[in-house]
Amino acid sequence: MRYDELSIQTHREAPANARSAGQSWLVRAGYVSHSGQLLPLGERALARIRAYLKTPADFQQSGLLTLTGAHETYYPTLVGSHDLLHCPECGTAARAETAQAKKAASAAETSAPPEKVLTPDCPTIESLATFLGISTTKTAKALMFVSIGSPKSPDFGQTVDSRETFDSEFIFVVIRGDMAMSEAKLEALVGKFRLATEDEIRAVGAVPGYASPIGVRNATIIVDELIPQSANLVAGANQAGYHLLNTNYGRDYSAEIVADLTQANPGEPCIACAAPLQATRGWVLVSQAGFDCEKILFALAEAHNDEKGFTFPAPVAPFDIYLMQVPGKTLDTLPVAEELYQKLQAAGFSVLFDDRNDRAGVKFNDADLLGCPIRITVGERGLQNGMVEVKGRRASETQQVVIEEIVEAIRYKLTSG
Ligand SMILES: [Zn+2]
Repeated sequence: MRYDELSIQTHREAPANARSAGQSWLVRAGYVSHSGQLLPLGERALARIRAYLKTPADFQQSGLLTLTGAHETYYPTLVGSHDLLHCPECGTAARAETAQAKKAASAAETSAPPEKVLTPDCPTIESLATFLGISTTKTAKALMFVSIGSPKSPDFGQTVDSRETFDSEFIFVVIRGDMAMSEAKLEALVGKFRLATEDEIRAVGAVPGYASPIGVRNATIIVDELIPQSANLVAGANQAGYHLLNTNYGRDYSAEIVADLTQANPGEPCIACAAPLQATRGWVLVSQAGFDCEKILFALAEAHNDEKGFTFPAPVAPFDIYLMQVPGKTLDTLPVAEELYQKLQAAGFSVLFDDRNDRAGVKFNDADLLGCPIRITVGERGLQNGMVEVKGRRASETQQVVIEEIVEAIRYKLTSG
């Protein structure tokens, strides 16, 4: 393809609104407009990425260090759009809202009989624990919602009967008092939901601020997996001003669903190998919807740049070769460049031919900016000896190659990296 056919527009200045080196180079090299729209060169790069990347294993070949989750592949970058939790030991990763961590069960103890206690001015779990002189791990937190849709397909390792649907159902959630609920995990189980009103809470037999699932009716009870393993928790007494000591799952109430419902946090043990989880940001490159080639281009841009522009590896660069011609003083270099252009394309290489009537410096700059793995320069001095100059984008040295041997030389360079 000729340079002008793609209407490439490069920029000398870095865009003011770029959030990273990769994003800045994408604009400067003309892949993306200042407003973030893909330009013809960017479309070209996407087509190459789409043709090359067939499995997540190809990411490694293209120099992308990705994180792999159960159903998704991520590229960690601080400018990414999602919060992630990943394990630096075993490499598992997930979106923060659905990530799982190994939970420490409370020490086993025998069930004690329930006991109602007066707990004035204890509107929060923390104030309740302080008032009773106990740890928040010994409390049960009640959260009440009303479902407003059917569940998404189960996605987070929890088993749900797919025939079961939830609509306008009262959802009574119990988690341990020291933990936070993951709305995404609950949504995966029951679909969309909203907070229950005080009237709705009273209608199922619970009391706002002092609620527990004990004795409630017409409610779907869902408890975190840790609740059945936690004996003698303090829970609401469903009576204003009172809590119950020593409530026990199984004896005092049971649930329709027991599942992982809590938010995992950085520093908590990895579910697979127990190493502490780390927080990062990232892009989702592959989801159940397939490959997101635009995000993959953005990830490649972060991974492959230097102080002059992009340094893309061959299979994901928009072209294999940047072919440029430098006008001569005594020799017309253009016909030779033209011939070389045809020959290289016939040999199966993808070539961007910079045949613009422009200074050599402009072309060298653009070649570095765009980041094609090989640059070939057709100039007067080389031609006098039947040679052209070849340079790998990441190499520091140039090389003179006899024109007749150019196809073999390029093929060798591209396959040897
Ligand atoms: Zn791990």
